[in-house]
Amino acid sequence: MERKEFRAESKRLLDLMVNSIYTHKEIFLRELISNSSDAIDKIYYKALTDESISFNKDDYYIKIIADKENRTLTVSDTGIGMSKEELEENLGVIANSGSFAFKNENELKDGFDIIGQFGVGFYSAFMVADKVTVISKTFGANEGYKWESEGAEGYTIEPIEKDTVGTDIILTIKENTEDENYDEFLEEYRLRGIIKKYSDFIRYPIKMNVTKSRLKEGSEDEYEQYEEEQVINSMVPIWRKNKNELTEEDYKNFYTEKHFGFDEPIKSIHLSVDGVVRYNALLFIPSQIPYDFYTKEYEKGLELYSNGVLIMNKCADLLPDYFSFVKGIVDSEDLSLNISREILQHDRQLKLIAKKIEDKIKDELTLILKNEREKYEEFFKGFGKQLKFGVYSDFGMHKEVLQDLLIFYSSKEKKMVTLEEYVSRMPEEQKYIYYAAGESVERIDRLPQTELVKDKGYEILYFTDDIDEFAIKMLMQYKEKEFKSVSSGDLGIEADEKDKDNEKEIEENKELFSFMKESLSDKIKEIKPSKRLKNYPVCLSSEGELSIEMEKILSQMPD
Ligand code: ADP
Ligand code: MG
Repeated sequence: MERKEFRAESKRLLDLMVNSIYTHKEIFLRELISNSSDAIDKIYYKALTDESISFNKDDYYIKIIADKENRTLTVSDTGIGMSKEELEENLGVIANSGSFAFKNENELKDGFDIIGQFGVGFYSAFMVADKVTVISKTFGANEGYKWESEGAEGYTIEPIEKDTVGTDIILTIKENTEDENYDEFLEEYRLRGIIKKYSDFIRYPIKMNVTKSRLKEGSEDEYEQYEEEQVINSMVPIWRKNKNELTEEDYKNFYTEKHFGFDEPIKSIHLSVDGVVRYNALLFIPSQIPYDFYTKEYEKGLELYSNGVLIMNKCADLLPDYFSFVKGIVDSEDLSLNISREILQHDRQLKLIAKKIEDKIKDELTLILKNEREKYEEFFKGFGKQLKFGVYSDFGMHKEVLQDLLIFYSSKEKKMVTLEEYVSRMPEEQKYIYYAAGESVERIDRLPQTELVKDKGYEILYFTDDIDEFAIKMLMQYKEKEFKSVSSGDLGIEADEKDKDNEKEIEENKELFSFMKESLSDKIKEIKPSKRLKNYPVCLSSEGELSIEMEKILSQMPD
């Protein structure tokens, strides 16, 4: 039997791979910067384990240099570099990851963020470059090596002079085509944007020369341009900092910088979890609703980072719909990513994180409700509807989570109250939690149907949102007390009991009632005398499940 090795058309394979894994060309920069960060991490690790090396943080950085004339973009780092063999193994063999091996060979503790694992990221450079040149000198070597490839016919390696340890990756950027723009990858503002987007929290400085202008010396109106080196990334993400070092102000600034909203969050939640899945999270509860919040355009989700690198802009699975207003980020090194590092492979970890986040948001809202009532009411004005939708949706699956976060206007307190507050002060003989639905508090106040209940001294919740009654129908009861609309036929109150023996009145007014019924024809079902009324001569009531208000809403809905 003869054993043969697989052969592959390497150019085709490379093309295929590079152009099919990634959805956006711009991520090549994320990949190269990630590699540089790994390379610096490695030399840092070496310094920790080898006393002859000193690691002075200032000497370690990544530099991005765009040269429009020569159409080159260089990503340069002062990391550990690669020997000739390493260049061959790591860049010459697709899917070979030196970083993954490094992570496995060394016991890395906190403070390391090795990102690489699949051994393909480097080749993403070929999405934007015709030619990739790597000049590298590894730690402890006397000479450097130059690796060069045009993707197609393999690569070349030769010795080269290089003074400093580290790696320069030089991309010769493709020419624009009819459908694709490559020039943009040589533009300062574009590069800055990509760095900010994906690599803002790489822990080493990413430097770039930026063009600025200033008044010419001695002149009052003539400007000159000059270049200045700037660090583009923020490096230490605020959520990785110690809570004790941070002020409310810091969180607010971050909220604004991230463009989460123009408002001020009513609460910033900072989580550092060291459990089955390790992660940091920074969550914000906004005070104002975004203009598109109740539209289809609104997208919920949290930013998701893995080792400081952005994976997803809006990870929807991290938030339940009823907390869709929450903004923020999650950073975890324990996520299993797919090869493009754009998607998660398993969502087991994500589910654990999402559950914890949901619990935390609920707890925080409960605390605000308890301790800062005014703030909560303000919040509820904007987002209360979303919570009520949450109670109603998925056949009431989430009602346990949400019922204690609801507040309604109370006839008795003349302000918003919780269901718990209502029930806790119910007189013993009161059977139901009463509510009345209508357009506004003032209108409901004047409803004849509320009279009897108020007269009894019972509290009524006023439902002014269309969704209110639907949500409450889904709850069915709260602490074993059922909800009852004041316009329902049977209020469970004494006067109603008495209505049961109204035969005499019915008999006496027979003709009047049938005249009224005839005049109103199909608008009403029945006319009855009642002891329920005090100051009003007449009122409407409904039978069965749907209240008058609900019927109104349903009849307005398009079929
Ligand atoms: P990954 O980062 O997933 O390992 P890449 O294709 O991005 O895969 O890189 C392959 C390997 O090449 C890395 O694991 C690393 O060993 C090596 N490498 C890439 N870039 C650099 C660099 N700038 N400095 C040192 N080594 C590098
Ligand atoms: Mg990589």
